[in-house]
Amino acid sequence: MSIFAGLEHIVREDEPLAPYTYLKLGGRAQYFAEPTNQEELAELARRATPAGLPTRLIGAGTNLLIRSPLVSGLVILMSAPAFTRLTVNGHRLTVGGGVKLPHFVATCAREGFSGPEHLVGIPGTVGGGLHVNSGADGVDLGSWCVEAKALTRNGELVHRQKDALTFSYRSSSLNELAILEATFEFERENPDQITREMQRNWIVRRARQPAIGEPAAFLFKDHLGEPAGELIQRAGAKGMSVGAVSLFDPNPNYLVARSGATVDEILQVIDQVKSQVHERIGIELALALQIW
Ligand SMILES: Cc1cc2nc3c(=O)[nH]c(=O)nc-3n(C[C@H](O)[C@H](O)[C@H](O)COP(=O)(O)OP(=O)(O)OC[C@H]3O[C@@H](n4cnc5c(N)ncnc54)[C@H](O)[C@@H]3O)c2cc1C
Repeated sequence: MSIFAGLEHIVREDEPLAPYTYLKLGGRAQYFAEPTNQEELAELARRATPAGLPTRLIGAGTNLLIRSPLVSGLVILMSAPAFTRLTVNGHRLTVGGGVKLPHFVATCAREGFSGPEHLVGIPGTVGGGLHVNSGADGVDLGSWCVEAKALTRNGELVHRQKDALTFSYRSSSLNELAILEATFEFERENPDQITREMQRNWIVRRARQPAIGEPAAFLFKDHLGEPAGELIQRAGAKGMSVGAVSLFDPNPNYLVARSGATVDEILQVIDQVKSQVHERIGIELALALQIW
């Protein structure tokens, strides 16, 4: 571990990644680090990049399938308190990249910041959510982002202002190694009203997605505004299952991995759904789930 000499307190070798993913499946990381502050995170990047070691961030692992038995290089988890702060300033909320999305949504409701109540029920972190521009009901996280602080692969700190940030459907220009912090700006409304709206949205959503904590994955991006779940249904793929993995009946754009499920079964379900949608309705679905 000479490459990380002096950082042994935060770097481990051959770490199993399954516990860090929502699917609770997958291989190990060659190196795994949990930096306790920004300087340690920058130092990890300054050592790994020149050594040619691929480096990746893992948030809450809700959008990841670890296919590889050994993910080569370094995987970094930003779970330390230094990355999970929230600060309210007038109409603005500044949030660490490691803050959980449900915590962000609940804070916005409490403060009367309107908009994020539509994102209730989406698991993940603010960093992961901004990287893929997560959203629901036509609303996405990037739409309120006015500033972001990120760390490049060379360990340099960069600040991006609103005019340098681009967010589109499930895509964002924030492609640096780590989104450390983001500032969001909102309209202010009555907190009670927003909280009621959030609760209403949650009741609707709860029926349409697998139960919180049940190993599951959100599969495909919508196609030209048409929900992927409806396309899967239209192609007759609803109800598809392989071994212990099956599509979630109320919305077949989720899969559920029951006890004993394997990565291979998940990949088979993904491939079969994709092929059936392509054969039956001529649409090439794009994966939202990232595969390492
Ligand atoms: C039950 C369920 C429901 C879901 N519903 C929705 C939905 O309605 N809409 C939707 O858009 N998504 C949905 N998702 C997908 C997922 O929850 C979101 O995309 C989430 O925002 C991903 O965040 P994460 O922290 O888990 O990212 P991860 O899965 O950990 O990582 C995803 C990507 O982001 C990168 N990343 C993570 N953290 C950072 C960081 N700090 N800086 C830079 N890059 C980072 C990772 O390297 C990776 O490339 C759902 C998933 C599940 C399991």
